[in-house]
Amino acid sequence: MKKITIAIDGYSSTGKSTIAKQLAKAFGYVYVDTGAMYRAVTLFAMRNGFIGQDSENLQPLVKLLSRIKLAFKYNDTLGYSEMYLNGENVEKEIRSLEVSKHVSRIAEIEQVRHMLVDMQKKMGAEKGIVMDGRDIGTVVFPDAELKIFMTASPEKRAYRRYKELLDKGESVDYEDVLKNVQYRDKIDSSREFSPLRLAEDAIQFDNSDMGLDEQFERMYNFALRVIDKQ
Ligand code: C5P
Repeated sequence: MKKITIAIDGYSSTGKSTIAKQLAKAFGYVYVDTGAMYRAVTLFAMRNGFIGQDSENLQPLVKLLSRIKLAFKYNDTLGYSEMYLNGENVEKEIRSLEVSKHVSRIAEIEQVRHMLVDMQKKMGAEKGIVMDGRDIGTVVFPDAELKIFMTASPEKRAYRRYKELLDKGESVDYEDVLKNVQYRDKIDSSREFSPLRLAEDAIQFDNSDMGLDEQFERMYNFALRVIDKQ
């Protein structure tokens, strides 16, 4: 069967990665979480003091970009790939609310986007990939055979994220998570370089009132229809 590229974009915490992982598994495709890449660069910037609670100095980060080595390594036990930053497994650290607070600023930087988009294009060169992010259907793979754009109300998204962070043992406040989701939506949609926007040929998918099984079934059917036409 001919392989396709599946691009999943949308707002923060719309459940893109959950669905993307399930689709990749169902079709035997590679799954790439591009948010993890922006998060790992953010962690690097935080550790080096380029961005923090009340300070920001991003020029030195741009100069050091060539020193950032990112890799996804598949974890058999977990059943998905984890993010490595310069050889260190940072999967847990990059999901913290602290990283979420700074990531959209880092993702605005043109040079950061160039570096990561280049890597993403290479990862998908052979097709047979499900990639999620904000600019996958518009910039990374404008020719993707299937493009999905996921949305849900900010409150629903914040609540899902809040529960996820609590389950991971992080002590967070729902209002803080909601503010972060709204803040990231705003920066991600209004930034100069590859802002989050709906690709003309994307299917809009609002999952505010939809369970995981129903979402998966619908997405799976979208993908099957496209694959059958190849
Ligand atoms: O998907 P996730 O919420 O982990 O992404 C974290 C952040 O990384 C987003 O809020 C956005 O600022 C940035 N991002 C991006 N382009 C992508 C993926 C993520 O700008 N393709």
